[in-house]
Amino acid sequence: MVRALDDVDRVGVVGAGTMGAGIAQVLATAGYEVALRDVSRDLVEDGFDAIESSLDRLADRGEIPADDVDRIVGRVDGTTELEALAPCDLVIEAIVEDLEIKRDVFADIDRVTDDVALATNTSTLSITSIAAATDRPDHVVGLHFMNPVPIMDGVEVVTGERTAPETVDLAHAISEDLDKETWESDDKPGFVTNRILMPWINEGIRAYDEGVASKEDIDRGMTLGTNVPMGPLELADHVGLDVCLHATETLHDELGDRYTPAYLLKRKVEAGHLGKKTGEGFYEYD
Ligand code: NAD
Repeated sequence: MVRALDDVDRVGVVGAGTMGAGIAQVLATAGYEVALRDVSRDLVEDGFDAIESSLDRLADRGEIPADDVDRIVGRVDGTTELEALAPCDLVIEAIVEDLEIKRDVFADIDRVTDDVALATNTSTLSITSIAAATDRPDHVVGLHFMNPVPIMDGVEVVTGERTAPETVDLAHAISEDLDKETWESDDKPGFVTNRILMPWINEGIRAYDEGVASKEDIDRGMTLGTNVPMGPLELADHVGLDVCLHATETLHDELGDRYTPAYLLKRKVEAGHLGKKTGEGFYEYD
C-alpha cells in the first residue's frame, strides 16, 4: 500500500542536476527531509550550490527569511550511495532523459527501498515502461515538475497503465503540499506539456537556422506577439539543449516526422553548447 502524505517525512531525489536540485529545494523548503543522490560527489556538490544560490536569491527578494536558508539546506543530505534511499517514504527520480538508464535506475531503487511510491520527472518517456522495470508498477507515477522548480506553479501528474489510484492521489497531494497546482495527463509521449512545447521550441530553432529572423527577434516576436514569458531559443537554453534534443527524439520515435529534431539543435548538443548550464547555448551566460 502506498504511503499517505501524512506518512511521508523523508523523500529521496535521484539526480542532482537542474531538476533534481530544484525538487530537493522545494521539498526541503516545505519541511521534508531529503536524500539527494547523484553519481559523483562533485555533482552532488553542484546540486547544493544550485540550491544555495536559488535560496539566496529568494531571500534577497524577501520571499523567504534569510535565516531560513541554512535551515532548509540542512534538511538535504547529499549522497552517492543507492542505499541512502532505503529509509525514504517516497523517491522522485530526475536523471538523464534516457529510457534504458531510467529503467536500470528504477530496478535499483526498487531493490533497496520498501514498498513506497516511486515517481519519475521524465519529460516524455513512457511511465508504463519505466514502471515495468520494477516489481511494483502500481506504485510508479509521473511527477513532471516544471523548470525552474522553485518558481513554476504547476506539476503534471502522469498515470501509467498500471498506476494505482492511491499513487496518483499521493502525487497530487505532495505537489499541493509544495504549493503547486496539478493537472493530469495520460501516459502518451510528451504528455500534455512537451507534446506541444517541444515542437514549438524546435520550430523556433529551425526558423533561426533558416534565417527567418535573428535569435533576438524570434524571441522578441514570440514574447511580445504571443504573451509568453520567454521565446523558444531562450527557453531552450534554460531547459538544456540536450534535454530538448532527447525529448524531441522521443516524440519523433513515437509520433513521427512532424517531430524531426532541427539540425541546429543536434549541432549545438554535439558541440557541448547545452544552454545556460554550460554557459553557452543560443546565448552566452556568466
Ligand atoms: P541534468 O542533466 O541537469 O541532470 C541530470 C542529473 O542526473 C545529472 O547530474 C546526472 O549526473 C544525474 N544522473 C545520471 N545518472 C544517474 C544515476 N544513475 N543516479 C543518480 N544520478 C544520475 O538534467 P535535468 O534537466 O535535471 O533533467 C532531469 C530529468 O528531468 C529528465 O528526465 C528531464 O527530461 C526532466 N525534466 C527536465 C526539465 C528541464 O527543463 N531541464 C523540465 C522538466 C523535466
